[in-house]
Amino acid sequence: MQVADIVIVGAGANGLSTAFHLARAKAGKIVVVERRHLGAGATGKSGALVRTNYANEPETRLALESMNYFKHWDDLVGGDCGYQPIGLLFFTRPEHATHLEANIALHRKLGINTHIISPDEALALDPSLSLADVTHVGYEPESGFADPNATIYSFARAAQDTGVELQLNTEVTRILVEGQRVTGVETSNGIIQAPTVVIVAGAWANNLFAPLHIDLGLTPRRAKVVVFRWSYERTPQHLTYLDRINLMWARPIDDNCTLVGVDLEHFFEAREPDTYPEAVEQAYIDVCREQLAKRFPAMRHSTMRGNWACMLMQSPDGHPMIGSLPQYTGLFCMAGDSGTSFKTSPAIGKCLGELITEGQATTVDLTPFRPSRFSEGAPWHDDFDYGNHPITISR
Ligand SMILES: Cc1cc2nc3c(=O)[nH]c(=O)nc-3n(C[C@H](O)[C@H](O)[C@H](O)COP(=O)(O)OP(=O)(O)OC[C@H]3O[C@@H](n4cnc5c(N)ncnc54)[C@H](O)[C@@H]3O)c2cc1C
Repeated sequence: MQVADIVIVGAGANGLSTAFHLARAKAGKIVVVERRHLGAGATGKSGALVRTNYANEPETRLALESMNYFKHWDDLVGGDCGYQPIGLLFFTRPEHATHLEANIALHRKLGINTHIISPDEALALDPSLSLADVTHVGYEPESGFADPNATIYSFARAAQDTGVELQLNTEVTRILVEGQRVTGVETSNGIIQAPTVVIVAGAWANNLFAPLHIDLGLTPRRAKVVVFRWSYERTPQHLTYLDRINLMWARPIDDNCTLVGVDLEHFFEAREPDTYPEAVEQAYIDVCREQLAKRFPAMRHSTMRGNWACMLMQSPDGHPMIGSLPQYTGLFCMAGDSGTSFKTSPAIGKCLGELITEGQATTVDLTPFRPSRFSEGAPWHDDFDYGNHPITISR
């Protein structure tokens, strides 16, 4: 029988960030249990856009705190997370201009370097753009993307250096409880006794919640991305883009390619996370090419160079659930990442660490993220959303 102070289930960005921060806070013996390998869930296949443009204050605060980590990774974590601050352009429908203005005013109030630029100014940043449908463009000069695998490898190294134990190829088969209190986990390698367990199991979390009779309304969904080689005509001035009109995001990858994701609901199917196909079907490749060419006409001549699919976990209101689970003392989670929780993972781990060790998160108030908001009948709504598409609320 093994004994720990805290067991963390899942070695993705959020599990490892939590382990790293708990170790820095000297929270005792911490064990991370991962059924496969580091980044085996959504993290290893993430688009990994790092930006602060959210339509609400709590997620913006998490993103801002996290952005500071990405910018100063070597000082704050150690190593290199591959952060590329190449700038982000954000496109919304003209009828959402007032929402964009309200959100950017909030971001600026919080200290973020962001502003609205004209289509002509956006074209100066990337002449490949087609912007006939756009009147206002959000611009974040310091945003960009990171390498999600490098990010978690450095979290893992720093956590191990501070005494965290990683148990890979080990599945948590059950959360152990006595009465209303957590007592540890049963794993494929035996039992680990612990008074505190943090479930950060991504798309697989329902397997652990269900036996505890906890239903958070989480849906595992299959997300996909496609890589296109830049066409002969495309300029190499390539930023990161969030396009709320074509429901698309894009960023450069591998020096001369574009990584694209299109968030159309029927391509974002609910499915069993243990048996999902890792390669993408032709219909999705076609739609990515089509949406990409609407914003970058030169890309209609580009060659498809790769693709992948992976599972993430959608929460009922499109915002993550971070905090304690009141059903059992000692049980915490970060669940329902909703396809948006790589960029916020440094702050999520820091805040979860504060909640566990001090009883309250002080860096960013986690109250709005509490998992109990649904049982309280208080799901989250953004005041200034961009059309409230269920799967792109936070993405
Ligand atoms: C295609 C795609 C693009 C994305 N783009 C972005 C983006 O641009 N920006 C952004 O911020 N976010 C993005 N995301 C979302 C982001 O990647 C996720 O929100 C984030 O990586 C979730 O991290 P996590 O640690 O919570 O979960 P995961 O990375 O899914 O990790 C969960 C881990 O738990 C393990 N596990 C599960 N069950 C068990 C068990 N019983 N025992 C032991 N281990 C277990 C899994 O193997 C897995 O390794 C994207 C996601 C996808 C799929």
